Amino acid sequence: MGMLEYKHIGKIYNGGVRAVSDFNLSIHDGEFIVIVGPSGCGKSTVLRMTAGLEEISEGDLYLDGVRINDQPPVERDISVVFQDYALYPQLTVYDNVGMSLKVRHVDKGEIFDRVMDTSRFLQIQNYLTRLPGQLSGGQKQRVSLGRAVARKTRVFLMDEPLSNLDAKLRAHTRAEIVKLQRQLAITTLYVTHDQIEAMTMADRIVVIDHGVIQQVGTPQELYTKPANIFVAGFIGTPPMNFIPGKILGGRFVNKELGINLAVPAKVGCQEGKSIIIGIRPEHLQIATTKQDEGMELVVMDTQFIGSRFYVLFKLGSLVITGSLPDYVPNNAKEWVSFSMENVHFFDGKTTMRLEV
Ligand code: ADP
Repeated sequence: MGMLEYKHIGKIYNGGVRAVSDFNLSIHDGEFIVIVGPSGCGKSTVLRMTAGLEEISEGDLYLDGVRINDQPPVERDISVVFQDYALYPQLTVYDNVGMSLKVRHVDKGEIFDRVMDTSRFLQIQNYLTRLPGQLSGGQKQRVSLGRAVARKTRVFLMDEPLSNLDAKLRAHTRAEIVKLQRQLAITTLYVTHDQIEAMTMADRIVVIDHGVIQQVGTPQELYTKPANIFVAGFIGTPPMNFIPGKILGGRFVNKELGINLAVPAKVGCQEGKSIIIGIRPEHLQIATTKQDEGMELVVMDTQFIGSRFYVLFKLGSLVITGSLPDYVPNNAKEWVSFSMENVHFFDGKTTMRLEV
């Protein structure tokens, strides 16, 4: 088993910096959870509190129903894979993988069996006598994973484990970690600032900003129903476009920008309310005829990214991004349309999602 439960967890560092506030989350056994958010939002603090490397200032943390706030790291049945691999440079791969078992007084024969099994599993069996300095970044990463795997803990924690790898290796290792996690079915908490990693790896994603959970959900849920403007802007590349306006006469209006759109009744009935609409770049298209659901935009720049064109349009002082199949010349004036089904509505004051 490996069920983690965070109840009202908070962290205040010495000196008074509040890094995490009222963190509540239940992680199921075998689940792959990714915590994502911008740098400094408190991701590593949550991970370090879980590992026991940082004291928990507020709340209770349970592993399979047992409160572990006061358990020292070595007693927690949790292993950590760090960004910088944290390998012992003077020890061979074999000893690095076996080290955490040795300090826990596992007998030599058992250590041998587990290191060999793990190395075969991670395909590092040919490097067992090498030192970390004689390995590539990708190989070091496997050894670092190997240490966690060999321990067979109930929980894996991973802190930006791919950030030192180049783009190609990162995509490959991403897939390998997911496969490994599925095969071992060990509860995994993975921390990253990279929303693509979160979207491609997680069963559920936890989005944090300023130490506060913004939303917990599957990648699909976060993409289709972001809880607020922060999540809407954080998940998706290029980011969602936002246009502010007001409900006037049952329509979404921004006179300055020349926007006047029919909106669903539930939003339209809130006369005078400040609203922000959100449209993803991939939901915009160039229309051949002027349609109701659209706006006239001027092309500022077109960037070819291989499969699509990112087109930057000017809308008053805003820049609207489209992800389009075809090239559009600079300065062209285009009627850009979208389906109202793909428009997200947010409260202009609270920035929270409005259900329609
Ligand atoms: P992230 O992992 O999302 O980049 P961290 O959890 O490392 O964020 O940090 C969250 C906040 O706590 C930041 O404001 C950071 O400056 C602060 N912080 C982190 N570690 C310490 C520390 N040891 N002492 C004081 N403040 C810290």
